[in-house]
Amino acid sequence: MNRSDFTVEILRYELESIVGADHVVTDEAEMEAQALDVWWVTRFWRFSDNDFPKPFAIVFPETAEQVSRVVRFCNEHRIACVPRGGGAGDSGGASPIRGGVVLDMKRMDRIVSLNERSLTVRVQTGIIQKHLEEYLNRKGYTMNHFPASFTTSTLGGFISTNGTGVLSSKYGKMIDMVHQLEVVLPSGRIFKSLPVRLHSTGPDYSRLFFGAEGTLGIVTEALCKIHPLPQKRLFRGFLLPGLAEGVEAGRRIMVNGLQPSLMRLYDEKDTGHILTKQFGVDAQGCVMLVGFDGRGRVVDAQYEDAREILEAAGARDLGEDPGKNWWEGRYKSYYPPNDYIAYPWMTAVTDTVAPYEDIERIYHEMRRAVEEGFAQWGAQFHAHFSHWYDWGASFYPTFLLKEYPEDTREAMRLYNRILDAAARASVDNGGVINEHHGIGLRSGRLMRLIYGERYDLAVDIKRALDTQNIMNPGKLGLGD
Ligand SMILES: Cc1cc2nc3c(=O)[nH]c(=O)nc-3n(C[C@H](O)[C@H](O)[C@H](O)COP(=O)(O)OP(=O)(O)OC[C@H]3O[C@@H](n4cnc5c(N)ncnc54)[C@H](O)[C@@H]3O)c2cc1C
Repeated sequence: MNRSDFTVEILRYELESIVGADHVVTDEAEMEAQALDVWWVTRFWRFSDNDFPKPFAIVFPETAEQVSRVVRFCNEHRIACVPRGGGAGDSGGASPIRGGVVLDMKRMDRIVSLNERSLTVRVQTGIIQKHLEEYLNRKGYTMNHFPASFTTSTLGGFISTNGTGVLSSKYGKMIDMVHQLEVVLPSGRIFKSLPVRLHSTGPDYSRLFFGAEGTLGIVTEALCKIHPLPQKRLFRGFLLPGLAEGVEAGRRIMVNGLQPSLMRLYDEKDTGHILTKQFGVDAQGCVMLVGFDGRGRVVDAQYEDAREILEAAGARDLGEDPGKNWWEGRYKSYYPPNDYIAYPWMTAVTDTVAPYEDIERIYHEMRRAVEEGFAQWGAQFHAHFSHWYDWGASFYPTFLLKEYPEDTREAMRLYNRILDAAARASVDNGGVINEHHGIGLRSGRLMRLIYGERYDLAVDIKRALDTQNIMNPGKLGLGD
């Protein structure tokens, strides 16, 4: 369907009848803004004066019933529907590449109820994570979900990309933080999962929607776990003899059942880029930040065990400041003037998760693929290991090019070639790329490489639930 004034007016009228005239926007500037997220490619393409697909309209629903009516309308008329949270995704997930209607969820930010006995909060998913956390803090609680995009992204965005915060080693990923979901399916039907997740009454169907990036429905409400604010937070920094010693110490901390809330192992370059430049850490090499939180005596006892493991690995104690300063200023790395991966530099994060037997090899292979494979462009690669489990870990590698072809298409080809090389280095060595940054458009073409034949199931589920292919078409490699 081509955008014409006539169709836009008809569409606008229909949508206004559902959400009210004040909550439908069709003006050109807004359409431009809502066409992009923070993925390097969408911004580069647009800022190089190329046209980018835009939506016909943006609607701001207030209730699940309104979302349902908009989706039903789109389904009947085969109009693409793109849910959008904060628009801070970095893989083009919220870009409406087939036009259609964007459902901006940020008006759906109501806290429905707080349960202080079972420690849960029921909340609409358009809420910005920071606002939810501020509300909880006022009541003496926390959700313990602190991703770097905490100030700009919504709970629904995190659920839909199955996001991970900096305290994930203790509190888990988004899928571990939610008991129940309400989702508007592509048919417009409202689905609510069972009130508890730990059941054997058939599969937990809510799992389908964590990481689905709006391709299977629009998440409208969630019942989330909360925790009392910790009595104590303890931070410490250590300088390790090398990456291998750091990974092994981290593994031993996790498999011995310790529960650091924070554990971040920086490779030499990331130590320089982040810890030294921005936080004044006076060390060269691989630095590990560790943190424990909770009841005072438990924190102290756990830290003592972790310290023994680290010292046995040859770590040198750098004191409390590196970790404490990082925690207190943790968001500044991502914003000017500190952003070390700033536009127009070509960058992408290719976060990878794997079992312990593979993770370090993947790091070296990926680094080689980027630095040696693209040496003529001066490609840089740096990483930190930031999410640890008792079976494996994930690392957060960034590639960065300060120079690239002037021609837009050539530049994008180069970007894709680097991403492909990094992904292949991971997959060929037993890893899974994308621990938490979303697949969107950026990595959709890699889904077959990552999944192999298993991907057929994803296609079957998409076809069964979204018969008209209206739900965020083209994302996760699904649809046309
Ligand atoms: C500086 C920076 C730091 C970041 N750090 C982290 C980090 O530490 N951890 C992390 O996990 N991510 C991080 N990200 C990535 C990003 O914040 C996440 O992908 C986040 O989930 C995006 O949320 P959003 O509300 O901005 O979603 P959007 O960008 O608006 O959308 C992301 C995807 O979710 C879908 N979606 C949004 N809302 C809904 C809904 N209610 N129902 C169904 N689908 C929906 C969209 O269609 C899209 O596919 C970072 C990004 C930036 C820019």
